[in-house]
Amino acid sequence: MALDIRNIVDAEELELFTYKTKTNHALKTMKAHCDSDAFITDCRDKARQKINRAIVNGKIHWNRLPKLITQNTKMRKDVDGLDMEIFGLSFAPHWISGFNTCNGLSIGCAESCLMFTGMGQKFMIDANGDHTVAIARIVRTILWFEHRNEFKTRLLHELELKYNLLKSKNIEMGFRPNVFSEVKFEKLFPEVFTFCENKIPVYDYVKDIKRIKDNPFSSFYNMTFSLSENNALFITTALSYGCNIAVVTDIPTTKNPKNKKEYLHAVPEKLTINGITLRCIDGDKNDARFMDTKNKFVVLRGKGKTIRKDQTSFMLKVFENNV
Ligand code: SF4
Repeated sequence: MALDIRNIVDAEELELFTYKTKTNHALKTMKAHCDSDAFITDCRDKARQKINRAIVNGKIHWNRLPKLITQNTKMRKDVDGLDMEIFGLSFAPHWISGFNTCNGLSIGCAESCLMFTGMGQKFMIDANGDHTVAIARIVRTILWFEHRNEFKTRLLHELELKYNLLKSKNIEMGFRPNVFSEVKFEKLFPEVFTFCENKIPVYDYVKDIKRIKDNPFSSFYNMTFSLSENNALFITTALSYGCNIAVVTDIPTTKNPKNKKEYLHAVPEKLTINGITLRCIDGDKNDARFMDTKNKFVVLRGKGKTIRKDQTSFMLKVFENNV
């Protein structure tokens, strides 16, 4: 039976109904926004042109396109006790490419998505007026949706090259398939997990609780449940599947002036969210979530300017309430 407000009998069902309604609303809102935003549509057009130039007589010339696996600042951070490098696949989130890549999104996470922080900040355009980072993310997303087989072959090729290169230097490798997206690769691209098994730990931040419940590669595909303003009802379930809970907070990103590798403000020792109290991990020390001990809140500092204007409660106020 479809979930209908007239059939709802208890508080749990009502909570689920509210969650689904809000998620659908967020998806529709972000689609409308992306389809009408001049910056996004301009990047989409340029991504299309790039792809068209790279396809000659039906063959994709990958050397004319951005690499599929890359690193960002957080992935580059040292992983305590390990000689490891982390690489990821950066798509464009939600409807930015014209295809939806985030089924579990909320208005709060979409508005503050890390896609537009760091190198993704909108003003970071080159001399030609192009935002190469945003365009590259859109290019990858379109290729995934429209050239799936070639995309898969290329991604496996890049992973293998990178893995072999690092191995030759005695460096381990980690892989994050969804840097700014939530694509069910475990269902749609199991070959990548077959490749990584026994050699490359894979991890993601996940909002869709169904993916956590159904994860077929849970022994080496680490999922951290990613909290938004609308999905705290799933915390208990995520914990029961051995997942930690990532939470974005208002703790400032200010660095320690005496040691720029450290943050000035530490994360709290414990947090209580939705009546659940857990010890905390500083999730900004590095991005190697597969190294985290279990049953923890993974505390993140809100990045970028947009999140400081958050009105949705996506960003949990733990700093402001304690100063
Ligand atoms: S925070 Fe995650 S779910 Fe939300 S829009 Fe960004 S990538 Fe998608």
